Amino acid sequence: IVRFDKVVKRYGSNVVLDELDFSVAPGERVTLIGPSGSGKTTILRLLMTLEPIDGGVIHVNGEPLSHMHRGGKLVKANEAHLRRARTSIGMVFQQFNLFPNMSVRKNVTEGPVHSLGVAKDEANGRAEELLELVGLGDKIDQHPTRLSGGQQQRVAIARALAMRPRILLLDEVTSALDPELVAGVLDVLRDIAQTTDITMLCVTHEMSFARDVSHRVLMFDEGQVAEEGPPERMFGAPEEERTRSFLKAVL
Ligand code: ATP
Repeated sequence: IVRFDKVVKRYGSNVVLDELDFSVAPGERVTLIGPSGSGKTTILRLLMTLEPIDGGVIHVNGEPLSHMHRGGKLVKANEAHLRRARTSIGMVFQQFNLFPNMSVRKNVTEGPVHSLGVAKDEANGRAEELLELVGLGDKIDQHPTRLSGGQQQRVAIARALAMRPRILLLDEVTSALDPELVAGVLDVLRDIAQTTDITMLCVTHEMSFARDVSHRVLMFDEGQVAEEGPPERMFGAPEEERTRSFLKAVL
């Protein structure tokens, strides 16, 4: 469903992704780990087409987001491919980025109604279901500013799911939360992982969560995949020294 093929990303002279290859199968849940600056967030931002790449190809649903000429010149991405990719991907950020001046209900229905053309009644019904799912059915008519960080993040998850994405990107979604609010958000995500077949790409420092939900863990270092495998092996018996020293520092 996602394929990176020799993807290069630079910021000035800083090569963040160095001919990176990896792919994710439909329904697969993958956790990205690695030292700060290893490019994990960049990978999610590239999938959201928030930035251009400097080489290689990214495929989403089998369609290229952009590609290179043999001579190395970037060919402009096909707009229809970009649109389809964008609507098949949902993202939840570290900072919840809710619309503060809209009710929780409006936050969740706005995208489906205005970007997808879903009828208001239908979007409302779906919002009610999703807010139930994240344990906030009773907060639907509140303003997000009246909610705790953990509750706001659960609204952000409901908002992403309201767009019915095939792929959900999660970027350190609990890092900005007070410790006592982390478990509630992770429980919601565990539930989604267990009850849906949505593809998940998750950047997290919550290793026990990664162990519970992911099919595969990818360890990034120096712009490439340093090691990958099922969570039991990656956390229990990593083979690469880089993985071992990274895990020692975070566990
Ligand atoms: P962390 O765990 O700290 O979030 P990360 O693995 O997600 O790290 P990225 O945020 O993807 O890392 O950043 C990778 C590298 O790219 C870093 O060296 C960062 O300084 C650089 N970088 C990211 N965004 C930009 C930008 N907009 N302009 C310049 N450099 C950037």
